[in-house]
Formats: sequence, C-alpha cells, structure tokens
Amino acid sequence: MLSNSKDDLSQLLREKGYKITEQRKAVLEIVMEHDGEHLSSQEIYELVKKKYPDVGVATVYRTLPVLEELGYVYTVDLGDGCARYELQREGQQHRHHHLICECCGEITEVKDDLLDEIEKKIYDNYGFTIKDHRVKFYGICSKCGKC
Ligand SMILES: [Zn+2]
Ligand SMILES: [Zn+2]
Ligand SMILES: [Zn+2]
Repeated sequence: MLSNSKDDLSQLLREKGYKITEQRKAVLEIVMEHDGEHLSSQEIYELVKKKYPDVGVATVYRTLPVLEELGYVYTVDLGDGCARYELQREGQQHRHHHLICECCGEITEVKDDLLDEIEKKIYDNYGFTIKDHRVKFYGICSKCGKC
C-alpha cells in the first residue's frame, strides 16, 4: 500500500500520465486533514476554498475521482444520497465499518475489522475469498440510548 503523502501523489500522477498541479495536491491535503469526517464533494470544496481560494469548484469535483482511481480515497455511501469521501488509510486491508445512529444521524467508525472469523467461515463454506466489505450498522448510539 502506498503511503498517503503529497510527494507520492506527484510521482503517482506522473506515472499515470496525469498533470501534477498544486490544486490536485491541495485537494488531497484537505481530505487528509479531515480524515474520518466523511465529507461530500461540496464540503471538500468549501474547505479547500478557505485555505486555497484559487482552487475552483470544477477542479475539486474533477480531482476527487482521480484521487480515487489512484487509491488515495474511496467513496462511501452512508445512505443520505450523496457520495462521501474518505482516506484510504495506510495498512488498511479491508474497509472499516460505520455505525449509523437512526436517532441523531451520528456516524461512528469501527476501526477493527472484527470479521476475520466470518470471512474464514465464508471461505470454508463457499470457497469465496473476501477482498473487501462495506458494512453499515443501523441503531441507537450511546448518547441517544441514554435519553
Ligand atoms: Zn475484513
Ligand atoms: Zn444518536
Ligand atoms: Zn469512515
């Protein structure tokens, strides 16, 4: 897995034949700074604009799919109708899980995979090798459970 740094991004962009622009690096920088926040394209644009007022909205919208293709970010659908982006973390083999509170809408990340046993059982029973998963749990968060 590649490390998430802007220097690596330059090299990767070059290898893939993309133009290396400061704007592209700025978009990655903002996503990195807001790791764990599940931002939409629009939200990422708002944050980029604050720090780099020269970067246009079209650039941000066009850069995110490029970063996804390069393996820096991936989209996550949290059921609110818009694609949200998160950082592909170094050393992370499978995607982390999300806990979605049906009461307040809060999203909590589960960092541990916890599915090793299930993955093994599926392989044993179906001969199916699991390469990734997108798990969302719906329920009541600890704050809402108390009230
Ligand atoms: Zn897993
Ligand atoms: Zn809640
Ligand atoms: Zn997440």
